[in-house]
Amino acid sequence: MPDEEGIYTYSAVLMGSPILLRLFEHNQDLASRVFRLIKQQENIFTVNRPHSEVMAINHAAGRHAVEVSPQVFYLIKRAKAVSMLKDSCFNLAIGPLVKRWKIGFQGNRVPPDEELQALLALTDPGLVILNEQDRSVMLEKAGMEIDLGAIAKGYIADVVRDYLQQQHIEHALINLGGNVQTLGVPDSSGQQHWAIGLKAPFSSPDALIGVINVNNKSVVTSGIYERYFELDGRRYHHILDSKSGYPLDNELLSVTVISTHSIDGDIFTTLLYGMGVEKGLRYLAGLPEIEAIFVTKDRQVIFSSQHQFSFTLIDNRYHMA
Ligand code: ADP
Ligand code: MG
Repeated sequence: MPDEEGIYTYSAVLMGSPILLRLFEHNQDLASRVFRLIKQQENIFTVNRPHSEVMAINHAAGRHAVEVSPQVFYLIKRAKAVSMLKDSCFNLAIGPLVKRWKIGFQGNRVPPDEELQALLALTDPGLVILNEQDRSVMLEKAGMEIDLGAIAKGYIADVVRDYLQQQHIEHALINLGGNVQTLGVPDSSGQQHWAIGLKAPFSSPDALIGVINVNNKSVVTSGIYERYFELDGRRYHHILDSKSGYPLDNELLSVTVISTHSIDGDIFTTLLYGMGVEKGLRYLAGLPEIEAIFVTKDRQVIFSSQHQFSFTLIDNRYHMA
């Protein structure tokens, strides 16, 4: 059934997160094909099951290179390039730390410090060797593991957008658990823009700080309130620092990125989270096509610039800087 705006919403749970597809026509068949496509992509990139293309690389760490499909090679190449940027907190070789902490996967205790320090030696992104000739990837040291968790959903959101465009769908929204990609405007609803909620951290699941309005854009949020555990009054969340071995800690609750491609949004949320507000704003000054909304622990909502979206504040405990 459509809602009062004529939108049909289809949902599924994939990659452990709820997925929503909004269309302006009743088309269960298309929705099923989209969910199948997502599932298929997820099977290639996952490191949460024993077999995938990425797991084949991880299993061969320290032993041999593994030839991969063009899309896996492309994604690893992008992720490595971002990881090698000066002072980047993004690290595609973070796998051993992610596995050890298990945050979001029943992990609820702090691993012994000496174990974490030992694992740091296995997280050097410079030891991920790409060979363009035979499209292969080699992890130089045994025990190294690639983790594409910070980039795969963005990539897949763009794959879905491209697929919908091929199917001549002009107006749609896909939400891959925090990664939103939109096509066109919300067609017959009379609305000029898609409305995407910015969640209020550590509140009820549908509480919003405000609403982001966009067309034809991706909106990606990464926050410390999505996957975390608490112990002895401290909070441990799922974005890890491969310099210290511990969750990244700064003034931020979340970073939202508005961009054309969701893969950029996914990369930049993680990258900007690591930079913090000041450095992040300076960095974005040179990148007009990437815009960000920072939400800080002292409840400031800070924009890098605001050309591709508008924002309406709802929760008056927060303040727009
Ligand atoms: P989500 O949308 O699931 O919150 P994010 O884009 O915020 O995902 O990325 C978090 C995921 O990325 C983690 O669950 C982990 O798999 C991986 N990860 C954690 N720390 C880093 C890091 N410093 N660099 C790259 N990937 C990371
Ligand atoms: Mg990300």
